[in-house]
Amino acid sequence: MQYYQIIQSETGPVIHSPLKGKPILTIPQLNKGTAFTIEERKQLGLLGKLPPCVETLEAQKKRAYVQYCDYSQPMHKNIFLNVLHNTNEILFYGLVKQHFKEMMPIVYTPVVGDSVIDFNKAFRQTRGLYVCYEDRDCLDEIFRNATNTDVKLIVVTDGSGVLGIGDQGVGGMGIPIAKLVLYTAIGGVSPYNTLPVMIDVGTDNPDLLKDPLYLGWRHPRIDDVKYREFIEKIIDCVMRIYPDVFVHWEDFSSRHASTILKHYQNKICTFNDDIQGTGVVTLAAIWSALKKKSQTLGEQRFLIFGAGAAGCGIADHLYFSMLQLGYNPKEVRECFWLIDRQGLLFEDDPILHEAQRRFARPSHERPGYDRYDLETVIRKVKPTVLIGSSAVKGAFTEQILKELAGLVDRPLILPLSNPISRAEATPQLIMEATDGSAFVATGSPFPSFNFGDELVITGQCNNAYAFPGIGLGVVAVNARRISDQMLLAASRAISQCVEENIYSKWLITPIPEMAVLVAKRVAYAVAEVAIEQGLAQATNESVVDRVDRVYWEPKYYPIIYQP
Ligand code: NAD
Repeated sequence: MQYYQIIQSETGPVIHSPLKGKPILTIPQLNKGTAFTIEERKQLGLLGKLPPCVETLEAQKKRAYVQYCDYSQPMHKNIFLNVLHNTNEILFYGLVKQHFKEMMPIVYTPVVGDSVIDFNKAFRQTRGLYVCYEDRDCLDEIFRNATNTDVKLIVVTDGSGVLGIGDQGVGGMGIPIAKLVLYTAIGGVSPYNTLPVMIDVGTDNPDLLKDPLYLGWRHPRIDDVKYREFIEKIIDCVMRIYPDVFVHWEDFSSRHASTILKHYQNKICTFNDDIQGTGVVTLAAIWSALKKKSQTLGEQRFLIFGAGAAGCGIADHLYFSMLQLGYNPKEVRECFWLIDRQGLLFEDDPILHEAQRRFARPSHERPGYDRYDLETVIRKVKPTVLIGSSAVKGAFTEQILKELAGLVDRPLILPLSNPISRAEATPQLIMEATDGSAFVATGSPFPSFNFGDELVITGQCNNAYAFPGIGLGVVAVNARRISDQMLLAASRAISQCVEENIYSKWLITPIPEMAVLVAKRVAYAVAEVAIEQGLAQATNESVVDRVDRVYWEPKYYPIIYQP
């Protein structure tokens, strides 16, 4: 059943819907609540079903904000916003965009992590599609049941590697929903063109399997062979129904994340945010810091602590970007040291996965180290850039940070792990331990603090500054693939935004107030490269005009009953 269709009329978009009465009020894409005009109320069978006052979106936002402020707990605010999202989508986006800085941590990190953990208890209304392994023979039916039919962007998860909190089973759905909120609120991708998808292949989280409230398939995760076949079936079905769709993979465990990306990246328009989005935003932060230090990428020694999806993704993006900038592959390879649970990674380690092996040190270097732990490696390597992507709280201890500051002039320290409770170090500890010499950016937002007589605001090195603009650029020009060059252009655009707009000596990332500007600049850059590389069709319209024209803002479209 098609619930609505958007028609481009001379006066702008108009919604045609075959629905009347109560059903209209239950579909968040259609429901305007008190903002339905008298004319609409008459023709849509809504007369008498709403209080008589016809309100504007502005008036509705004021009331919604008062209601939001009634909640004091972040989790309750998150639930309130989720309910609003599932009741009236335009009002939700109007509100979130107006109070973006205040609401971003509520709808996205850090509170979304708690909402995923609480998913089974807090569940109220449904959103998106749940594709359960048990329904593997009904995939067409499932995808044709989506309320949005003109889908251009899917964010999909299997809930196996959520933020820093691991296997969350079906509760992982909170993350694609949150990512799509940012795609729309920051990236201006129309919510009528998006779809969150949860692939439910079971869970290996024992707490969930015995939780009586668990809402997912109560079954251990299926084996790798069945898993790959299921993903293939899903992608076949998706591409048949939405041939031009952009597929964003989210929070897949490192067991599958890079294999899936490698398998599909030259077949469909696709992107893994944990791997590529994190790489894009991290390179941008590094570039911004290097500008302040008047140094180049080639002079750096990168130490990455936590060689999972994000850690290896960052290394990959740095590596490919440096090659494109003309560096020699052998020399670039020499700039990386990766540490995982077993310590520094060496090529002769049989348990390395492919992504780790690319950056493992040659085995002949083994004897050069007494031990392979973080402290020893820092002492030996003297890294200029230290990245935390391990989800190990406090791994960058005061002692380690002090030692690093003594070895390297103005080190760049990026504890990227989320949520806050998993960060490798707090910005305050880093500033104190390095005597204010370090450049810092964190994955999650941290409160500002006093350092000496200065107030320090730490920037967020979060893929939220990358993926919304990448999605906008891709959708605007209908790109067929995402190339390394497009991602490099995204990093450069973010870094340039920081350079042009931020004059604080501490900040090396954008700030939330710049999120829309950054998204648009990233979109222009990504779309431009896609066209240059023949991955999207050029038109007479400039890329900037095209991106600006498709950028979606929340406003009510007229609704016409059309049986
Ligand atoms: P992942 O599970 O794929 O990777 C984590 C890696 O850390 C694994 O390889 C694991 O073995 C390793 N590790 C665990 N304990 C360790 C220890 N004691 N010493 C060394 N290594 C250890 O997860 P991921 O998707 O790569 O995410 C990792 C963290 O990065 C999470 O907290 C996530 O929230 C964060 N992250 C942040 C951003 C951002 O934009 N800031 C983006 C993606 C991921």
